[in-house]
Amino acid sequence: MSENEGASLESKLQETRETISWAINEFEKIALACSFGKDSVTILSLAREVKPDITVFWIKTGYAFKEIVDFKDRLVKEWGLNLVEVSPRITKEELEEAHGKELYKDDPKRCCECLKVEPTRRFLSGLDAWMTGLRRDETEHRDGLRTVERFKGMPVKINPIVKWTADDVWNYIKTYNVPYNKLYDKGFVSLGCEPCTRACSWGRFERAGRWPDREDKECGMHTVESV
Ligand code: SF4
Repeated sequence: MSENEGASLESKLQETRETISWAINEFEKIALACSFGKDSVTILSLAREVKPDITVFWIKTGYAFKEIVDFKDRLVKEWGLNLVEVSPRITKEELEEAHGKELYKDDPKRCCECLKVEPTRRFLSGLDAWMTGLRRDETEHRDGLRTVERFKGMPVKINPIVKWTADDVWNYIKTYNVPYNKLYDKGFVSLGCEPCTRACSWGRFERAGRWPDREDKECGMHTVESV
């Protein structure tokens, strides 16, 4: 069992609130990465308690589910989000023109590099720190994540809910009536770009429905430090 995994939601909430408050007070140029999935909306809802106008950024790949775009627009309106939509230098249409309609299938690494990693890296270059909704129990790759991570030449990465389980997240969302994307009610467990995400039963890890044909469940956005 990982550190703090068995703690109560209330004690995890307290620790998470302390982490978020520390991060917001410590770093002047800080932003929160948001996919508008359950995890990033969880830290967004907690970060708003400390700084309602915290900068939030969303990577606009062009392949988002309509339900995610609609949910994003809803939260921007209802929560008055200070949202930056970061577009890749090469659009999805230009990518399709150059490499065919299904680059996401033929060469997903390249597609993710162009549409997710490049804009993420560019946006991060202007920050002191960023916050994410990453959790250790999502994939094997994330098992060793720490709450605060420092990589040479990169803004400090803060993962406030790294010790939470998926049950903790849903417990928080239901208990505190936090809005969530209705795709979860249709059998999706983890949300990403539409062509690469399937509804699925709960596998060994919750990202089983992401790139279902691939072993690698990372798009590179959260391994950008080692690229
Ligand atoms: S998740 Fe799929 S569609 Fe989205 S950028 Fe990566 S390969 Fe392309």
